[in-house]
Amino acid sequence: MRASAFHLSTTREIPAGAETVSHQLMLRAGMIRQLASGLYTWLPLGLRVLRRVEQIVREEMDRSGALELLMPVVQPAELWQESARWEQYGPELLRFTDRHQRPFCLGPTHEEVITDLFRREIHSHRQLPVNFYQIQTKFRDEIRPRFGIMRAREFLMKDAYSFHLDKDCLDRTYQVMYETYTRIFTRLGLNFRAVRADSGSIGGSFSHEFHVLAESGEDAIVFSNGSDYAANIELAAALPPKDARPVPGQPMTQIALDDATESRVTVSWMMGNDGTPVGLVLREEHRLNAIKAEKLPQLAIPLKPVAADALAALKGHAPHAGMNLIVDHAAAVLGDFTWIDPGTGNAWAHVNWGRDLPEPTCADLREVTVGDPSPEDEGTLEIARGIEVGHIFQLGTKYSAALNAQVLDDAGQNRTVIMGCYGIGVSRVVAAAIEQNHDERGICWPQALAPFDVALAPMHYAKSATVRDATDALYAELQAAGIRVLLDDRNLRPGVMFADLELIGIPHRIVISERTLGHHQVEYQARHAPESQLIGREDILALLRDALEPQDRS
Ligand code: ATP
Ligand code: MG
Repeated sequence: MRASAFHLSTTREIPAGAETVSHQLMLRAGMIRQLASGLYTWLPLGLRVLRRVEQIVREEMDRSGALELLMPVVQPAELWQESARWEQYGPELLRFTDRHQRPFCLGPTHEEVITDLFRREIHSHRQLPVNFYQIQTKFRDEIRPRFGIMRAREFLMKDAYSFHLDKDCLDRTYQVMYETYTRIFTRLGLNFRAVRADSGSIGGSFSHEFHVLAESGEDAIVFSNGSDYAANIELAAALPPKDARPVPGQPMTQIALDDATESRVTVSWMMGNDGTPVGLVLREEHRLNAIKAEKLPQLAIPLKPVAADALAALKGHAPHAGMNLIVDHAAAVLGDFTWIDPGTGNAWAHVNWGRDLPEPTCADLREVTVGDPSPEDEGTLEIARGIEVGHIFQLGTKYSAALNAQVLDDAGQNRTVIMGCYGIGVSRVVAAAIEQNHDERGICWPQALAPFDVALAPMHYAKSATVRDATDALYAELQAAGIRVLLDDRNLRPGVMFADLELIGIPHRIVISERTLGHHQVEYQARHAPESQLIGREDILALLRDALEPQDRS
């Protein structure tokens, strides 16, 4: 590709409103342009990268035996009513009616559509297992679209759905998908981690998220320094402390908050599932984990804080033995602690369980913190930031039962199939890769994602016939070898040209000038290398071939 004929559109200025490095660099490099909140156009440069991700995902899905299909973005409401998600999904589901007043939505995901396809298409267990996938636009009316294409409203996802007669078969496909995802993110050259994730009501370790590790990641992921335990923070269990609860010392007294010297606990009042408030009690330094709390049968889902004025009437302020509380394990082992009422800021010292408060009903309510013991094994927990780029999930019969997707088994009996689903945020991967691979000059693409393999940077291409002829010959030679070359024939000043090529992150650059050509040499520099080196004109192809060998980084 000649740069003069390609729409390269770079800027030096940091675009206003772009908070993350990847968002800034994608705009500055001319990869994307915003149309409206959460809606982006992919410019030719960006699309080349997006297609690279797509290609690797497609190759590995095909290799796994999954079958590609393509489902509509627009989905009829009836299917969502059948699964009950028309009511449950909330405002992320963009709903509208067609000219005949029939209700539709834009697909945020495709469980309903694929399950409907399955029940019409597949009738015998002999056609199982099967795993269908697509690479398709999704629409989610995110409450806060942000960080460019990282959390967009319209984005590209690879989603796959597998169907099975029994759990063993699902487990096998799940394992194949786990390995396929590992291959995909390895081939993409990303530093990633698979972590156990919350699988809602199904329970167990039947869900994993794949995270690209990056400081700017929105998610906290937890791992043990003594084993391969890794989980997202929503799931990671906090073990109850082994300490015995001390016997009560002094009598309870109300104090000024500033005078508190003991361990502090606070309470958050949530609506219970019977309409009366339940207080969730944690040590002040711990954070409530809402996902854990939502699993408690005593509470209304989603969590609903109780208004402050309702509490006075319920005697929800001063500690007393009649309070309806659920107590985090770490708070339940305390004796003589200070109770802080967050509504009023009032504090009581020397509070004790079973005397000033009821005997505690305990649960794991908190987020784990660095240094906590690993929940299942040796070691202590560490916390890193991650960007979720993939998610694999055992669905069980949630959708197949609701939509009545059955096959005939060996004995001629109708059996409800069980399902798995497997997503990759194809467009988010592009942003995640930049978060992980950039420097002060711009993007440093992993080889597998680069929009071009090599940039040719001729000095005085327009003026010097020597340079032009040598450059054109090299351009033809590299293209013939299947290398993706960007020839920068824009006749820019060298500094400007180099800055552009570094900003857009092309992994290899060759500078061609009359001076070095006089010695049958060119100047070569890898994007990540601090300096350039002179190499013989005839050695270029071998050097590039070597550098462009697919390299796996585990
Ligand atoms: P998140 O917690 O980030 O909202 P999710 O749990 O809603 O993600 P899934 O429904 O599992 O995501 O979707 C599969 C993948 O699609 C995610 O792992 C993520 O990489 C990607 N994805 C989800 N929402 C968005 C979005 N708004 N913009 C870009 N990619 C997204
Ligand atoms: Mg989401």
